[in-house]
Amino acid sequence: MVTIGTPKSATATKVVLCGSGELGKEFVIELQRYGVEVIALDRYADAPAMQVAHRSYVLSMLDGDRLREIIEKEKPDYIVPEVEAISTSTFIELEKEGYTVIPTAKATFLTMNREGIRRLAAEELGLPTSKYKFAATFDEFQAAVAEIGTPCVIKPIMSSSGHGQSLCRTPADIDKCWKIAQEGGRAGAGKVIVEGFVDFDYEITLLTVRHVGGTSFLAPIGHIQIDGDYRESWQPQPMTGTALEKAQDIAKKITDALGGRGIFGVEMFIKGDEVIFSEVSPRPHDTGMVTMISQDLSEFALHARAVLGLPVPNIAFHGASASRAVVVNGNSTQVSFGNLEKVLEEPDTQVRLFGKPEVNGHRRMAVILARAETVEEAREKTLRAYEKLEVKL
Ligand code: AMP
Repeated sequence: MVTIGTPKSATATKVVLCGSGELGKEFVIELQRYGVEVIALDRYADAPAMQVAHRSYVLSMLDGDRLREIIEKEKPDYIVPEVEAISTSTFIELEKEGYTVIPTAKATFLTMNREGIRRLAAEELGLPTSKYKFAATFDEFQAAVAEIGTPCVIKPIMSSSGHGQSLCRTPADIDKCWKIAQEGGRAGAGKVIVEGFVDFDYEITLLTVRHVGGTSFLAPIGHIQIDGDYRESWQPQPMTGTALEKAQDIAKKITDALGGRGIFGVEMFIKGDEVIFSEVSPRPHDTGMVTMISQDLSEFALHARAVLGLPVPNIAFHGASASRAVVVNGNSTQVSFGNLEKVLEEPDTQVRLFGKPEVNGHRRMAVILARAETVEEAREKTLRAYEKLEVKL
């Protein structure tokens, strides 16, 4: 029997959310609908999810001692990571002590690092991936590029959203790519993965939810990345039956290996009927924001159900939809979004403003969502809305 108590009382069902970005914010809103008590953490104050949580703490989540202190004080029923950069070794200890980490401490540990997840996928599970080699020093790096061949893609093993990532087109790019990777990694300089360039037709995120009743797949999401960062996504991505079957099979294998309950974003490259595993995040995915308009239960609602042990008997799909990220460039602590009456003038259009307190460089600050008869029309609708948006720094 699943029981949820009263927030801020002795019966409260408590979640500590590690990471308070826009994805966390939507997840917290879904938890709030069930009366769950939410404590949001991040490295800066007033992060989006903190603005809708019951309480928050500001800390470096890589500081295991501080993280443990907060967990021991709050005694949550569920610890839910929203980002990768967390002291996942602390999660492993906490799980041993009886805490529940979503989906599992091992999953957060393995996916924090490109090496852990790549070796699991390719070497243990035998899933198809790009060619790859890891390199810790410049000499190893040169040898790895020579072995994989150019073009190849270089990424710090501790990175996400395109940070430190570059394309090595010819051997002449080697010095530049090494420098970019050493400067862009989350943990500073360090090991990189050299991946063979995959000449794909399109790439997808297959959101996969592990819940009490089993595993369910959402309709595949297509997306466009610029410099490794998502700019547009749409659902459903048309796929051949064979490719979809292979994608679901890969997603099932990798999510079963990681275990636990929750939603996973499984990223894959597709060429014809061939499907190549790229990576997996054991949490809602940025490209999955499109599900806020395409489905009755968004990826955040599904994550909440899965985490809380509630059933997911079906996932109703409302039709072709698209999302477009609003990436703001500049420096400001008082960004405003104007002309919204025009942005939202077409039917089946939505906007989410994340409420981020600051932009310093470039930052995703909002997303535009639209539904239409076809994916193409939905994408065009988000573009029309985007062009009307007036961002003031
Ligand atoms: P990642 O951070 O690994 O998800 O990479 C970000 C994006 O870079 C992907 O979504 C692809 O568009 C592109 N990319 C990454 N790895 C490769 C690869 N091996 N071959 C071609 N494109 C890639």
